[in-house]
Amino acid sequence: MRADIEDIFYLYDARLDGNVDIKKLCAVFELPWRRIYYLPKARSSSVSGFHALAAADVAELLIQLERLGFALDPMPLVEALMPSIKSLRRITEAQLSILWFAKNRHKMAPQALEVEGRATFATKIERLRMSSGYKAELWWGDAGEPLLLSVDAPRFRRRASPKETVCAQCGYTWFKGDPDASANHRREHKLRMRVLNPEPLSQLAQARLTDSEPELVTATSPAWKHREIYERARFFRREFGYDFVQWDSSDGDSDPNVHGFLFLNERDLIVGACAFRLRDQTSGKNWGLQWVWVCPMFRRTGVLARYWGYFRKRFGDFDVEGPVSPAMQAFAVKQGDTVLLGYNPSL
Ligand SMILES: [Zn+2]
Repeated sequence: MRADIEDIFYLYDARLDGNVDIKKLCAVFELPWRRIYYLPKARSSSVSGFHALAAADVAELLIQLERLGFALDPMPLVEALMPSIKSLRRITEAQLSILWFAKNRHKMAPQALEVEGRATFATKIERLRMSSGYKAELWWGDAGEPLLLSVDAPRFRRRASPKETVCAQCGYTWFKGDPDASANHRREHKLRMRVLNPEPLSQLAQARLTDSEPELVTATSPAWKHREIYERARFFRREFGYDFVQWDSSDGDSDPNVHGFLFLNERDLIVGACAFRLRDQTSGKNWGLQWVWVCPMFRRTGVLARYWGYFRKRFGDFDVEGPVSPAMQAFAVKQGDTVLLGYNPSL
């Protein structure tokens, strides 16, 4: 409540005592005051409420005031609130600020408060270094009115801004210098390298023994097959710039007729994949080859050619769905199968 906050100000910093409007101060930092009530008894039909600020928002107020150079210590409140925050799954900005306070204290980026759109009219700048090490700059207007206050934390270091980088191995674009982006790249790198530089899979070796068509992926196939084909579909999407991955997810595909194939080479490595879908449900005959992707390292080694005769036998005169890449066009010419080209399901 307001009286509690006034007490904190009184105890810590005389500059804040008595001569600030706490609600206005909270508005600057977008901290909402709310009407709250004591839980009414079952038979009560009226309650009396009062205005208060959530505890986490009080902590945030103290954190922001310290950031402006006031001599406060937000730590006791931060520590008191920390256990309850750590048990939450979603948190507010104030709670995030509490969570990171110990790590960020005295290192936060400069804080600036500005009278909207007026700072450029400043005619006088005053600089001040506080005993806490915080440095303030106050910009004054012609009539001696304050226009901008900016405060630098004593341990703030300007870091080089993250740089856009493309990984030469996996092709992932990320921002070097941003820890989150680096972690994302590491995760993605592992996934992509499994596809780009495939290694023997134990599940595949197992399927060789029990599965009459280890390459085939249908709606009822085991999860590992969906994972493998989905990763290849993701590469296809990236390479050809489509909006969607043409396989539902790494968990499966809801199309009961889908026929995906994992291309295997002579060493039983997965070197590519493709998917056929039944486009004309009524005749049950009109199949479309929706997408084909071959791992770059294994292109021009006859991967698709090895399966082509089998596909023609199984799916008849299927449509090679467009847009068809130049490589696929050349392939169809070589196979004498240009008749299969030219159908675009999106037209
Ligand atoms: Zn990479």
